[in-house]
Amino acid sequence: MNKVVKQKQIGCLILCCMLFVCDGALRAQTFDRSVKTASNFEAAIPHPDQQKHAAEKLKQLHAKTGQRPNIVWIVVDDMGYGDPGCYGGGIAIGAATPNMNALARGGLRLTSCYSQQTCTPTRSAILTGRLPVRTGLIRPILAGDKITRNPWADEVSLAKLLSDSGYHSVLTGKWHIGEGEGLRPHDVGFDEFYGYYPAQKEISQRFDERRYPDLVLNEDLLAAFELIGPGVDLVHGFAGGKTETVSSIESTADMGNADQALADFSVAKIQEMAAQGKPFFMEHCFMKVHADNFPNSKLKGSSAAKYYYKEAVAEVDLHIGSIVGALTDAGILDNTFIFVTSDNGPQMDSWPDSGYTPFRGAKGTTFEGGVRVPGIAYWKDMIQPGRQSDGLFDLMDLFGTALTLAGVSRDSLPSKKYYDFVDQTSFLLHDQGESNREAVYFWWDAELTACRMREYKLHVKVLLPQTPNLQIDMATLQTTGLAPWLFNLYIDPKEQTTVGHRRNAWLASVGAKLKAHAATFKLHPAKRIGLDY
Ligand code: CA
Repeated sequence: MNKVVKQKQIGCLILCCMLFVCDGALRAQTFDRSVKTASNFEAAIPHPDQQKHAAEKLKQLHAKTGQRPNIVWIVVDDMGYGDPGCYGGGIAIGAATPNMNALARGGLRLTSCYSQQTCTPTRSAILTGRLPVRTGLIRPILAGDKITRNPWADEVSLAKLLSDSGYHSVLTGKWHIGEGEGLRPHDVGFDEFYGYYPAQKEISQRFDERRYPDLVLNEDLLAAFELIGPGVDLVHGFAGGKTETVSSIESTADMGNADQALADFSVAKIQEMAAQGKPFFMEHCFMKVHADNFPNSKLKGSSAAKYYYKEAVAEVDLHIGSIVGALTDAGILDNTFIFVTSDNGPQMDSWPDSGYTPFRGAKGTTFEGGVRVPGIAYWKDMIQPGRQSDGLFDLMDLFGTALTLAGVSRDSLPSKKYYDFVDQTSFLLHDQGESNREAVYFWWDAELTACRMREYKLHVKVLLPQTPNLQIDMATLQTTGLAPWLFNLYIDPKEQTTVGHRRNAWLASVGAKLKAHAATFKLHPAKRIGLDY
């Protein structure tokens, strides 16, 4: 081919590509309603009237109670989107959830509420307002892991911010963000911790000879495991004070009763804190319904299905009722913001000891099944009963919302860190509130995989299980082909048929959002703490 002609052809191709990119970027601006107010904060959709209304509502409540509101987060471990009755499960799948249903009926049921795809990432993200890849907590810290630096050393937790502002901050239940000194809840901002450091499975595998005979019945292996295995103790720790062992789990029967003791503690603690007249932040993290589930000896047969997982769902629901009951009995329900959720989708690898999601994928993937979770916001007389919204809500938004409710200024946050939360106070409190979040970004390990904007979700990388239920233990990460996978979740909630490259406007728009998100890491590099594979 003539050299000049070839150069012209290459020139034309580059120009066409530039025009497409420019065109895409311009159109992206028209799709994107969010506005950045600071370079280190996630952009939010402005709703000035909604915001004014919410601020006035909070002011009136404060005038009535004379105290800042209490904040209670209830986090169920690995509960599926489809498990609670108010999300289509409940009685229909063998485990009634009357208490979660009542909260949903009395408040706001979110249908596009997102977690990270596993435990540690979600739990750390909601307490820091930052994506796991920014804090280094990109996956669960497991037996034998050696982290290279303390991820909390330069992070400021919500528990600390609230405690510094006069709240009593307490975490009950599962922690799962490290158990060495400097990593424990009462080292990183909680005034008080009453719970266990690891997940149920990491404790029960020492005792469950039916599921783990090769470990439990082999003395040498068990001894080796004990050297690196996480703790089995119920710990009561105080910031700057003592850390006591209350009891230890020594059998699967003990494991089954763990959540009863945790619920009893939270109920008593609520009574105590209400009597002290100081605002409080309580994060109650259930051990259940994460595998391996064992029955509460007092509650056997409380679900129609009778399977241990279903018994666990029914039990968790019962305890949620007790916690709400304690707030009611203490006369502080109208001054307490309650949020009920799950830290990720169901863990299908442990089926049938696992939950239900109507969506594609499960825990460990960034398809909807792994990250779309129940989200119930309840606040008597403050959140309009019976509301439902598909507005985007990332569980990290609880961080920014809690700051606003407690009257803690963003100026308290380190100015050199990037924050991914969006303050959703006005979305929750306005009777017809709309979400302030324009996009949700999905990460797996240190890989940016997908982005949702309105009803569209674009994947650039996907986790594909090589056998149906092993979405963690036998899944491979793959980069999508020439066109990213773009699903319209309104017509394709199971993410089965991409609308493909003919939707260039949306590809460009969501793609531009994803690229802008990736660009934030140039100024604010990801943190590594030794959890990369
Ligand atoms: Ca979990």
